[in-house]
Amino acid sequence: MQVILAQPRGFCAGVERAIEIVERALALYGPPVYVRHEIVHNGHVVERLRAKGVRFVDEVDEVPPGGVTIFSAHGVSTSVDEAARARGLHIIDATCPLVARVHLEGARYSRQGRDVVLIGHAGHAEVEGTLGRLKGPVHLVGSVEDVAGLEVSDPGRVAYITQTTLSIDDTRSIIEALKARFPAIVGPDTNDICYATQNRQRAVLSLAPLVDLVLVVGAANSSNSNRLREIAQDAGVPAHLIDDASALDPAWLEGVSSVGVTAGASAPEDLVQEVLAALSRLTMLRVMTLPGIEETLRFRLPAELEAAGPGPLPRHRSDMPIRHEDLNRK
Ligand code: SF4
Repeated sequence: MQVILAQPRGFCAGVERAIEIVERALALYGPPVYVRHEIVHNGHVVERLRAKGVRFVDEVDEVPPGGVTIFSAHGVSTSVDEAARARGLHIIDATCPLVARVHLEGARYSRQGRDVVLIGHAGHAEVEGTLGRLKGPVHLVGSVEDVAGLEVSDPGRVAYITQTTLSIDDTRSIIEALKARFPAIVGPDTNDICYATQNRQRAVLSLAPLVDLVLVVGAANSSNSNRLREIAQDAGVPAHLIDDASALDPAWLEGVSSVGVTAGASAPEDLVQEVLAALSRLTMLRVMTLPGIEETLRFRLPAELEAAGPGPLPRHRSDMPIRHEDLNRK
């Protein structure tokens, strides 16, 4: 069976930065370090950090005064930030700079007296954080249908921003519907979907026509991973989102001669390698990687951690070498 790996896949710069922040905070301040919510949406990443002394909390009032407290890559609302400061916590912000940019964009539109429309999925951590950053009127829409029901203070003063991990196509149609309803609406040049989301979605679009089945390694609560599965499925290929190799169902492989594999932005590459190893225990594999964008973007760490910590950490990037020789070992 042929396996075709998407390129790029897996960890993005925002996720790498968030994990590195936690690792360096552990090294610098010692455990326990507190992280509000999952640092990134992946249970394996969370469990590995928990084993090193991280305590994950739902709310900042669970952290003792002075505790080192890290905000996740998804960002937090102003009220969470204020509550943490009022409690005297030592805050380290791991919000992805691309999410922080959306916060700033939204705040600028609010200051201009505009109603802000956030295109995103209700209940997602990033959406909760962004909604809670805006002081003026803000409306959440998740579909073209939602646009029809929007009621704004002044149709001539509306702006839109978007969650960073949406489907490029779905978002485009929602923006078109907004522009049709509010011709004076302003927004970013295209949308706020981040480079990593766009690159992974385009890679799946290239992959899907070449394979009989797509496996997306990622967590069920990972927005960008869910979009990758949907995109493959919309391209006419059966696709499954799997947390790890244990979720692989051999029945999916019946009549399948080529499998495409990709991973969401919060899924570590070793989980992809474990899926390949599991496939190789079922059948002989030929593995190839599609040509694709080589991502080199790195975000700076917060100043207090930049010079500190354990030094360069092992990379988990999607372009790490694949040990093909191991795959067919029974
Ligand atoms: S998916 Fe995009 S916005 Fe989210 S952490 Fe990664 S780079 Fe940042």
